[in-house]
Amino acid sequence: MTPTFDDIESAAKQIVGAAHKTPVATSRTINARTGAEVFFKCENLQRAGAFKFRGAYNALSRFTPDERRRGVVTFSSGNHAQAIALAGQVLGIPRVIVMPSDAPEVKRIATEGYGGEVILYDRDKEDREAIGKRLASERGLTLVPPYDHPHIIAGQGTATRELIEEVGALDLLFVPCGGGGLLSGSAIAANAMEANCKVIGVEPAAGDDGARSFRTKTLQTVNNPKTVADGARTPSLGSLTFPLVLQYVADMVTVDDPTLLKTMFYLWERLKLVVEPTGALGAAAALAGTTPIRGLRVGVILSGGNVDLTQMPAWIQYR
Ligand SMILES: *Cc1c(COP(=O)(O)O)cnc(C)c1O
Repeated sequence: MTPTFDDIESAAKQIVGAAHKTPVATSRTINARTGAEVFFKCENLQRAGAFKFRGAYNALSRFTPDERRRGVVTFSSGNHAQAIALAGQVLGIPRVIVMPSDAPEVKRIATEGYGGEVILYDRDKEDREAIGKRLASERGLTLVPPYDHPHIIAGQGTATRELIEEVGALDLLFVPCGGGGLLSGSAIAANAMEANCKVIGVEPAAGDDGARSFRTKTLQTVNNPKTVADGARTPSLGSLTFPLVLQYVADMVTVDDPTLLKTMFYLWERLKLVVEPTGALGAAAALAGTTPIRGLRVGVILSGGNVDLTQMPAWIQYR
């Protein structure tokens, strides 16, 4: 069941015409400032505003006719929910989405806008996986989790496949990490296409379970971390993603929230790209100077752009 580069190639064919081939942005200012050549893969411009549409469409378009008729259930704090809601709409598949009651309102409203049935739960008291599994068995729905699924991982890997296909060899690739679906898919693709490309996973400092798991080689968890990177508040890497991260990822680093927000605003101002906090994790690590990038060709996945603008009053002080 562990996905391979062949599965990413297959996913790339599967999503053609449905997902956008997103642009790659560059900035002379950033290149001059870092002494590197930095390529930003703009998944904030992907359909539904994040790379998650890639995995969601890859998974749902492979449903059997019977599975399509019965529908899909998933749990997500936001972007995977929107992606499943939209992919299901495109494919005509009924979809039930289990979301935390404190998920950003923009993400809940967008999910409902794509025609998903949203069921809210209390993050502190209830287990979203258990709710998802119960709905799956009660209603005959197929569960498609946000990251620990071979079709999801393979779909997410297509962003890096496109990036390397477009810009050529990279020395380093910075990838935001929550449950590790994007990171493991990216790392499989990078290793297959450019064996010398080092892939770096980036987490918010408060949710550093993946970095600790990577260092100790034992799965570590974190409970409901407080961070503006709401797309990376996952409790741990998955049973599929963790071994892939250990096998293919060169290092895991973390970024604190003030640095993350500062980078996010910098991307808005310099690149004119609206990126959400989680989406700026890779850029924050690349620009922080803690991992040397001078003289290198560096890829950065800007993973999403679904900003909750109601948070601006609290965030703007970090600009
Ligand atoms: C989901 C998400 C991530 C993390 O992806 P995982 O596959 O869970 O590691 C990063 N950035 C954004 C914008 C996301 O929506």
